[in-house]
Amino acid sequence: MPDNILNRIDPNKSYPSFKAKEPFTAKVISNTRLVAKDCEDDIRHVVFSLENSGFRHVNGQSIGIIATGEDDKGRAYKQRIYSVASSALGDDGERKTLSLCVKRADTIGEDGVLYKGVCSNYICDLKEGDEVLCTGALGRALMLPVDEETKLILLATGTGIAPMRAFINHIYNDAKSWKGGVDFYFGGKRADEALYMNEVNSEISNHNNPNIKMNTYFAFSREMTNASGQKMYIQNKVGENIEQLWEDLKKGNFSLYICGLKGIEEGLDEVISAYASTQGADWMEMKKEFKKQKRWNVEVY
Ligand SMILES: Cc1cc2nc3c(=O)[nH]c(=O)nc-3n(C[C@H](O)[C@H](O)[C@H](O)COP(=O)(O)OP(=O)(O)OC[C@H]3O[C@@H](n4cnc5c(N)ncnc54)[C@H](O)[C@@H]3O)c2cc1C
Repeated sequence: MPDNILNRIDPNKSYPSFKAKEPFTAKVISNTRLVAKDCEDDIRHVVFSLENSGFRHVNGQSIGIIATGEDDKGRAYKQRIYSVASSALGDDGERKTLSLCVKRADTIGEDGVLYKGVCSNYICDLKEGDEVLCTGALGRALMLPVDEETKLILLATGTGIAPMRAFINHIYNDAKSWKGGVDFYFGGKRADEALYMNEVNSEISNHNNPNIKMNTYFAFSREMTNASGQKMYIQNKVGENIEQLWEDLKKGNFSLYICGLKGIEEGLDEVISAYASTQGADWMEMKKEFKKQKRWNVEVY
């Protein structure tokens, strides 16, 4: 059962968990756009200094950010949650930094008014040197198994790439090998929104280590069509490789992680269920078992 982890914080030590009443302060080191100027969405990579904060997290956890200011009733803003996009060792490799991948969440309401997301705008507008109140670490960790022979199956849409970036950077920069291989699926609207894999920031695509076998599969719904001529979503891309996935599931030595928009897991269930029934298997029963074994890990929002 892959419930041991690489990169674990010392289990014998207790690390503080910062609550909204007693947050820690993180200082902005950099805030850079992850997509081209003409891209309709603004998505940013923000790196914070953790120095003197006492904060620790493990891969896959999130932090809370408390935006400054008040709501229209004069109450302080409540925290919003963001998945940490750097491995537990940070972008600096020394646990002194933490990074987030944040999309400016603006919506045009049914009334035609532009509603600006409170906290995402606060984060996307941060400048170097700004100090930010943070809580955490929050949420279940998405832990890598200790057994490097494990096949990793990573599925992310949009900013759901945050914990996957942490995994992939950890594998290439720290662990330096992953013998079981990695199948990484990324879904978005357009190729220029392939976060960390586009012309503005190609950090993930630039990783190169012949000892690590990573296959990356893209599903861009506005630019690609599936076999039925419909928009290509991430589950359709998985469907194209269903025989490989089925083989991995049957073999049993895999760890699968899903992060991103709600609904991604249901889409995946449909595709796997349909194939499982051709094999005389009941996918939902199989999934229950994989969940118990911590092989099926989901963080959606
Ligand atoms: C576990 C977890 C991890 C997450 N990780 C990430 C991450 O890594 N990156 C990331 O970008 N996000 C992440 N999120 C989402 C994040 O927590 C916030 O929900 C998101 O940034 C929006 O918050 P906000 O304060 O900007 O928007 P809010 O102010 O909370 O508004 C929410 C949305 O409603 C819209 N809205 C507000 N008022 C109206 C209205 N009257 N009519 C119509 N629409 C309206 C806003 O435009 C906005 O889109 C995560 C969430 C969870 C639960």
